[in-house]
Amino acid sequence: MNQFFLDFAVCKHGHQTPIRPSKISIPSEDQRSKDTETELEYFVCNECRRIYEVDPDSLESHPSPWGLEPYIPGSPMRRFEVWLPCEEAYGCLPIRVIAVLKADTTDAQLETEKSTWKGRALRCPKGHFQSFPSGWE
Ligand SMILES: [Zn+2]
Ligand SMILES: [Zn+2]
Repeated sequence: MNQFFLDFAVCKHGHQTPIRPSKISIPSEDQRSKDTETELEYFVCNECRRIYEVDPDSLESHPSPWGLEPYIPGSPMRRFEVWLPCEEAYGCLPIRVIAVLKADTTDAQLETEKSTWKGRALRCPKGHFQSFPSGWE
């Protein structure tokens, strides 16, 4: 039976977006996750296309028949990491946003996709609040 446990981030409207495999299903876990887990990170809700902060304490683990690339090869969906530059100052590290899209999404499609996202009160790693161009809320 092909079921994978994924961690779902829940937006404030209750939509669930699978952002990574749950630890229980991945004994040899992704090496990077240890370093990055405390970092402020954002995800794009699959339903409302808004950007929210990932709250590690409110992730929900559920079985998914679909899996998630690149962790589970052959899945129809893939986790993309998109880096948004800080618009408020030079020399800041970019803001990391996780987006779960069709596995065969091209770079050009990803750019189009990005223009549909909305976000509020995003902060760069140095804590600058972002005042995004129109289209962002
Ligand atoms: Zn949502
Ligand atoms: Zn900044």
